[in-house]
Amino acid sequence: MVNQKQSWGIIGGGILGMTLALRLAERGYKVTILEASSKPGGLTGSINMNGIVWDRFYHVILMSDLNTRKIIKEIGLEHNLKWVETKTGFFSDGKLYSMSNIFEYLKFPLIGLVGKFRLGLTIIAASIIKDWRRMEKIPVEKWLKRWSGKKVFEKIWLPLLRAKLGEQYKETSASFIWSTIQRMYAARRTGLKKEMFGYVSGGYDRIISAFVAKLTDSGITVITNYKVRKVYSDNPGRITIEDGYSEKIHFDAVISTLPSDISVNIAPDLTIKEVEKHKAIKYLGVICPSVILKKPVSQYYVTNITDTWPPFTGIIEMTALVDPRELGNMHLVYLPKYAEPDNELFNMNETELKDYFINSLLRMYPFLSEPDIIHWSLSKAGRVFALPTLNYSVNLPSVSTSMYGYYIINSAQIINGTLNVNETIRVAETKLEEILRE
Ligand SMILES: Cc1cc2nc3c(=O)[nH]c(=O)nc-3n(C[C@H](O)[C@H](O)[C@H](O)COP(=O)(O)OP(=O)(O)OC[C@H]3O[C@@H](n4cnc5c(N)ncnc54)[C@H](O)[C@@H]3O)c2cc1C
Repeated sequence: MVNQKQSWGIIGGGILGMTLALRLAERGYKVTILEASSKPGGLTGSINMNGIVWDRFYHVILMSDLNTRKIIKEIGLEHNLKWVETKTGFFSDGKLYSMSNIFEYLKFPLIGLVGKFRLGLTIIAASIIKDWRRMEKIPVEKWLKRWSGKKVFEKIWLPLLRAKLGEQYKETSASFIWSTIQRMYAARRTGLKKEMFGYVSGGYDRIISAFVAKLTDSGITVITNYKVRKVYSDNPGRITIEDGYSEKIHFDAVISTLPSDISVNIAPDLTIKEVEKHKAIKYLGVICPSVILKKPVSQYYVTNITDTWPPFTGIIEMTALVDPRELGNMHLVYLPKYAEPDNELFNMNETELKDYFINSLLRMYPFLSEPDIIHWSLSKAGRVFALPTLNYSVNLPSVSTSMYGYYIINSAQIINGTLNVNETIRVAETKLEEILRE
């Protein structure tokens, strides 16, 4: 049983770690965050692109992201939230199509009327279904073929699944598509049926700075450049942390927010069985170039790609959402590619990747040429989201471990949602409640 004097160590200063720390401090605990890099933020961190500071991975806030909006309010930035009606595009058979309303959908030439009807039905079915546990038992391919038919599956769903999941789509359950559609539907339910997306002026750089200030004001210690290498219990009721260089740090309890395999690798005393369970969680990573351009490429925040030749999953045109004045009147696009951590793209050198990605971008938009490209930067992360495999929630390890006082709460605990900041905050809050009730 924990008491109000206890000290807690949080490994990882991403959104999850910061939320846990804040909620623990509010309950009167003494909290320290240990973060490996020089700044907290993790995947929501920023980069400087030729003087323009913005998220290294693209981020958007939905009107239905109530947990994210709650934190934004708590850190005093709610008046800096901007809402914009955005559009979606499709790049299919070498052409760009707008897909932002029902009329455009009906005009979309890639599938016939019957196909469109079945595709629409699939989306409605996924938005109505409530029992996500049932969806977890069905392979995504089987479920989509049942509702949309083989043709629509091959023309539309398969390229989209491959883009987001690589060949791992074969192991993925229907809950993946269910939660994606549910999130998009929730966004429209709250927002007048229009695609209203939001961002905070200044991007996540500003959110993280305000969040860190709130943590410090709440008495939380944030230690950066501290990469945890070992966690163990050398005294009953005490957890010790080492980075291999500095002095050991002792806590009454520790929560790791790192990916599951890393969380068990740093804790050598865990049982083989629980280590296996954590290591069975498969992750997908992302390679995400960001390109600063002199001119826009489209009017779409997201352009989905059904052609197979571009190396990227889709195009995110940030400045179709964010006012270009925030970015020095330049235009920012991200070219994300999701892939398994051992995908060869992770080993390609930056020049090779740049040629590969930029050449494809120029081929997609022939009006664009090399001199329009002002800056390129490459961000990558090997373990971004846990693959929702069949019966995912049933096989998920508990957040408590056999080492008393050591817990693992990470985004792999998102069981009926997609990976996003809103779900990450929800997992932090609900799982923390669970362990405090223990
Ligand atoms: C390409 C991309 C696009 C996205 N788009 C959106 C979006 O539009 N909207 C949205 O809401 N969400 C989006 N997300 C998701 C969002 O970024 C994540 O949900 C969230 O940032 C996850 O936070 P986390 O704390 O769980 O993990 P992380 O951010 O990964 O935090 C883990 C932290 O642990 C640190 N760490 C690692 N090893 C150690 C160690 N040994 N010792 C100490 N510290 C360590 C890391 O440096 C990191 O800071 C996107 C993510 C990506 C990658």
